[in-house]
Amino acid sequence: RNRTTPHHQRRRRREAIVSIDQIKDAIESGGTGDDLAGLTIPETYRAAHTLRSEQEMFADMASADKDPRKSLHVGQVPTPELAPDEVVVAVMASAINYNTVWTSVFEPLSTFFFLDRFAREGHWESRHRQDFHVVGSDASGVVVRVGNAVRNWKPGDRVVIAPVVTHDQDPDAHEDQMLAANQRAWGFETNFGGLADLTVVRASQLLRKPTHLSWEEAAVNLLCAGTSYRMLVGAHGARMKQGDIVLVWGGTGGIGGYAVQMVLNGGGIPVAVVSSPERAEVLRELGCELVIDRKAEDYRFWSDEHTQDESEWRRFGKRIRSLAGSDPDIVFEHPGRETMGASVFAAKRGGTVVTCAATSGYSLEYDNRHLWMKLKRIIGSHGANMAENAETIRLLDRGAIQPLLTETFALDNVGEAARTVQQNRSDGKVGILCLASSEGQGIEDPEKRERIGEDRITSWSRSFAATKEAVND
Ligand code: NAP
Repeated sequence: RNRTTPHHQRRRRREAIVSIDQIKDAIESGGTGDDLAGLTIPETYRAAHTLRSEQEMFADMASADKDPRKSLHVGQVPTPELAPDEVVVAVMASAINYNTVWTSVFEPLSTFFFLDRFAREGHWESRHRQDFHVVGSDASGVVVRVGNAVRNWKPGDRVVIAPVVTHDQDPDAHEDQMLAANQRAWGFETNFGGLADLTVVRASQLLRKPTHLSWEEAAVNLLCAGTSYRMLVGAHGARMKQGDIVLVWGGTGGIGGYAVQMVLNGGGIPVAVVSSPERAEVLRELGCELVIDRKAEDYRFWSDEHTQDESEWRRFGKRIRSLAGSDPDIVFEHPGRETMGASVFAAKRGGTVVTCAATSGYSLEYDNRHLWMKLKRIIGSHGANMAENAETIRLLDRGAIQPLLTETFALDNVGEAARTVQQNRSDGKVGILCLASSEGQGIEDPEKRERIGEDRITSWSRSFAATKEAVND
């Protein structure tokens, strides 16, 4: 039988939609784990993906013209076979992370390269080499199947998914997962990511969903918040202490917004940098008093493509000192080329620059004299191990930090959502509804939500909405 005839494809698609609807109905009507375990997992599922055949589509174009709306497709892809240590999760909601922007513009390289490299590791990994790449590194949802080596999870468990993929037979993973040679970012360096109706992930990526949050509020946090936790709080990062002054670039962005909350939580003093008066206003409202509007103050750290202007570093450093009383103990760095010179200069004598990215360019330049003569250090940081992710989720679950969700799109509009993040038009985090029919679903413990306070939980989205309204008036 030819299984690829158009007739068969149409039938498979119809069957897939029926199965997915049954899973969704069972979840939304409060079906038990046994109910879910008894449902069919469809042969194909709806997913946001890029195509190998299009990986050259933006060649020779300027970065700004590379448009995720052209390269991110939403359509049916085949469901992979389940490995013994994996689970199938019905994804209720997901999020846009900057890595989905990178994948969709094939920069700095095509992520099909990562999939092919991962596929060489073994039999199960070879499933990841496909002509499509399902993207997405955050999700909340419900476990619907478990492999026969899974111990801690069962169908019906409500979970969030961490992006760190490692396996426990690598000794280095036991000291710190992020040091394991085979460590990968799910949905970026691996296939079958979270921007989809289903995902297949290792059981070791799961954590319990905070019970007072909706699907989309729970989905947007872990990649960014875990990264910020490791950079600032965890044993491998800058180890912020009470009273530390922390300069946070992009204070209302994904990682920056969690960083600001963690600094305030831990008794530090955040000095946040943003690029608009609205963003500055929101941060002040949320308790971050010291804010620099980099656009209004017009810092030009580069006088031309090859030359940095030290007098601009000095002006910036002076401004921080005038606000906070002294130089920052810690600089939370990620814009990269545009800011690294200023970050190294501004950090206090003996201070720390902790960096996890280079959005504006990864070939960095700083004046090493400012680093060594003033005994500063730079820490490279990446993602978070599962202990750090678990601590991060514990903070969210206790209502000590809040989701940065400010906007939610349907999965079918994922390209538009990625474009807003690429163009720095989004604030905080952008959520994506996958199987969830509408916003606000999935709250398991409404009393706890009331105790923590609706106002606190939705503080970021409300502040942004109010500020935008005031500007429009
Ligand atoms: P985001 O939500 O887009 O926020 C980034 C913020 O950075 C923006 O809000 C913007 O704030 C600021 N920014 C952008 N370009 C800048 C520039 N040239 N100079 C100064 N500030 C600039 O992104 P995100 O999720 O926070 O991620 C930020 C970066 O970290 C991305 O490159 C991402 O890939 C990376 N990342 C890495 C890891 C990891 O594990 N290694 C994890 C998460 C994210 P203003 O315009 O308001 O100043």
